[in-house]
Amino acid sequence: MLADPLDILRTTFGFPGFRGVQADVIDRVMAGRGTLAVMPTGAGKSLCYQLPALARPGTAVVVSPLIALMHDQVRSAEAFGIQAATLTSADSDREETMRRFREGALDLLYVAPERASGEGFRNLLRTTELSLFAIDEAHCVSEWGHDFRPDYRLLRPLLDAFPEVPRLALTATADAHTRADILQQLGLPEDGLIVAGFDRPNIQYRISPRDGLATQLKAFIAEQPGAGIVYAPTRDATERLAAQIADAGRETRAYHAGLDPAVRARNQRDFVASEDMVMVATIAFGMGIDKPDVRFVAHAGLPKSIEAYYQETGRAGRDGDPAVAHLFWGAEDFARARKRLGEVDDSRVAGERTRLTALAHLVETAECRRAILLRHFGEHPAERCGNCDNCLNPPATTDVTTVAQKLLSA
Ligand code: ADP
Ligand code: MG
Repeated sequence: MLADPLDILRTTFGFPGFRGVQADVIDRVMAGRGTLAVMPTGAGKSLCYQLPALARPGTAVVVSPLIALMHDQVRSAEAFGIQAATLTSADSDREETMRRFREGALDLLYVAPERASGEGFRNLLRTTELSLFAIDEAHCVSEWGHDFRPDYRLLRPLLDAFPEVPRLALTATADAHTRADILQQLGLPEDGLIVAGFDRPNIQYRISPRDGLATQLKAFIAEQPGAGIVYAPTRDATERLAAQIADAGRETRAYHAGLDPAVRARNQRDFVASEDMVMVATIAFGMGIDKPDVRFVAHAGLPKSIEAYYQETGRAGRDGDPAVAHLFWGAEDFARARKRLGEVDDSRVAGERTRLTALAHLVETAECRRAILLRHFGEHPAERCGNCDNCLNPPATTDVTTVAQKLLSA
């Protein structure tokens, strides 16, 4: 018996209605059809598999790339009264979790992609009914995506071993090329693609060249209300910058994967609770952090790609209130990235170059920044958004540089 999704939405989750494309995605999954949902950060992707996991008989297997992210997801699922657990090398209660799984007591089982190749895991999955496979951060399966994880390639044989179980892939960031690749890599039907609108109208985009970064950052932070994130390119840079801007009158902390886990956990917890903290962090900070009222995101250097920029800036303003994203870039960012092109696999050079060229255009353009972002994701936006630096203060065309673009073509 399938329960009614809208009933579950209201009773279990306490939400009055679906948002955006959620209803379409859930309808497809309920009907057992393979689906790729491309929905921006904050659009509510988790619900798209959590709800069918409750409405369909059996347990859903959720693939996720990061253990910390899985644990956050389990906590938030449990808060809704959902039976969820992780099965990772970091868990000491694996026996107990496997027992619950075999008994059919779990709604959701979160696993890492590397688990998929094991014969033991496949046999475990045969011991109970499966409601669906959810593949979160599905862009990781594609070399065209911005965060390729070879382990994601292990998933296909596992999925194919359970052909009757519906598959739902989810990602916030995939351009047209990556979407097609995900469909193919995961064996999803071509008509299985559902794309939500990408516009985040409450985020104001600003981009400027670095020129005394610490001073620029302090001035920027001083005019922003609320809590915010400053993304820095390296661990050292997070600590250096945090020290340099500590006297801007805001509590400032650093966050990166090299910190003691207890310190990291404390900084993250304090940030989520804070109304005006500034977190200077590497991109390790963000995924799985549920703080809807982040008011600004600054980049101290160039992100890896337009997708990464969109995802990182998307952590601002998830509550829909005004937020600002300011990217500070330098020609040396492009010079360094270009040098790295010489070190990547031949098969990936063309993709990386395309990625960098798109970034160069975004930072140096006199056009509407939002229009460029949205077009990148296949949309047809208005020419001017009225809420980016170029729309608010149109630059004289003579001010527009092509340093970055020249660096890449040279
Ligand atoms: P994503 O994974 O797409 O970034 P999440 O799944 O973390 O987004 O959801 C973002 C927030 O939106 C969460 O706090 C979630 O509870 C909330 N949310 C999801 N769907 C709905 C809905 N239909 N109505 C209200 N809130 C929702
Ligand atoms: Mg998510």
